[in-house]
Amino acid sequence: MIKIDDYIPIVGQSTIDEIRMLAAKMAGRRVQHINSTAVGGGVAEILNRMVPLLNELGINAGWDLIKGGQDFYSVTKKFHNALHGRPEAIDQRDFDIFMEVSRQNIAKLDTSSDIVFVHDPQPIALVEKKKENKWLWRCHIDVSSPNQKVWKFLLDFIVKYDSAVFSAPGFSQKLPIRQFLISPSIDPLSDKNKDLPQEVIDGVLNKYEIVRDKPIITQISRFDYLKDPLGVIEAYSQVKRYIDCQLILAGGTASDDPEGQKVLDEVLEKAGSDKDIHILLLPQNDIEVNALQRASDIIIQKSIKEGFGLTVAEALWKAKPVVASSVGGISLQIRHKYSGLLCHSIEGAAFAIKQLLHSPDYAKKLGANGREHIKNNFLLTRHIKEYILLFLSLYHPEDVVNL
Ligand code: UDP
Repeated sequence: MIKIDDYIPIVGQSTIDEIRMLAAKMAGRRVQHINSTAVGGGVAEILNRMVPLLNELGINAGWDLIKGGQDFYSVTKKFHNALHGRPEAIDQRDFDIFMEVSRQNIAKLDTSSDIVFVHDPQPIALVEKKKENKWLWRCHIDVSSPNQKVWKFLLDFIVKYDSAVFSAPGFSQKLPIRQFLISPSIDPLSDKNKDLPQEVIDGVLNKYEIVRDKPIITQISRFDYLKDPLGVIEAYSQVKRYIDCQLILAGGTASDDPEGQKVLDEVLEKAGSDKDIHILLLPQNDIEVNALQRASDIIIQKSIKEGFGLTVAEALWKAKPVVASSVGGISLQIRHKYSGLLCHSIEGAAFAIKQLLHSPDYAKKLGANGREHIKNNFLLTRHIKEYILLFLSLYHPEDVVNL
């Protein structure tokens, strides 16, 4: 069990003292996180690490899941895509399915905690159950230019919350409730991010029959159009014409994402018989993700939209040179030519990968700067501190809390 004091060597004693001091003001209060999946995707990743630490700090934190079937998650996936600006045909039947399942969850879930902390659109309608307690809506996705039909539907619920939280300044919206900007984080001590012995890294490469005889370029992501895995293969093919290299596309599935198999099928077809493209369907295994990131020469994240992109932070924390799309929360993490290379197209991604493969010293410098940036801004301890300040602000609405 990782303890809050275990972070002292990384972030310093004063940071932990400050967190303890703030947490003491929330002692005994019940905070209930609610989302739609326990595994897969960034929200589950963060809650898995954060909830035990909040408890150790004396805050009575819990985590509940809403339930829904295939129909419901097909609708919420359409919402997700539409909020990210993808064209989706959404009709009244979709809204009806959403409301029907929401009503079932409203009936079943106990939401009597002092603070109910709802993540993303799937459970948003639970707020209909709000009593005298405090409710937060935490939006993890890039809603800088949302589909208006879906956004207006969500807005009827959002306005009932006490406050909303977004990941990046560009996502904030005109709302009659208070908004906070709090970016996500990674846990440097988790299996996903801790240092690994070389034998473990080699063992994972052996397991997947990957030989380190040529540079490895890797994207770790759910198989989702918005992660553009087909674009990654195209960029790799363009690089491969000039530099012999190999590509790892590794991803698992999330129980609230029904589109994964279709995307995976298209990826497999595009990869064809190229033996240097490794498509890995990962079991939920943080050590394997960690090892693959560490074994890579370059990490790519060619997302079309991205709320934050934990995979970018994970790679930078491992001091890896990263090539990533200049979208959403990625731009918070990578300053172009300082802590990685940003790209705007497949050709741009290919160009950046070639540049890094040709200039290992430059690549190393970008990785080192990236690690420092993550250390200063995107570790779990900063996130916990800002959440506790957010909780406290709910009880002092008249104060301006500068997060
Ligand atoms: N992830 C994983 N296994 C996979 C694919 C992704 O553990 O097969 C993790 C990844 O390391 C990261 C999270 O899931 O911690 C994905 O978060 P991100 O913000 O990058 O994207 P999201 O899936 O939330 O859109």
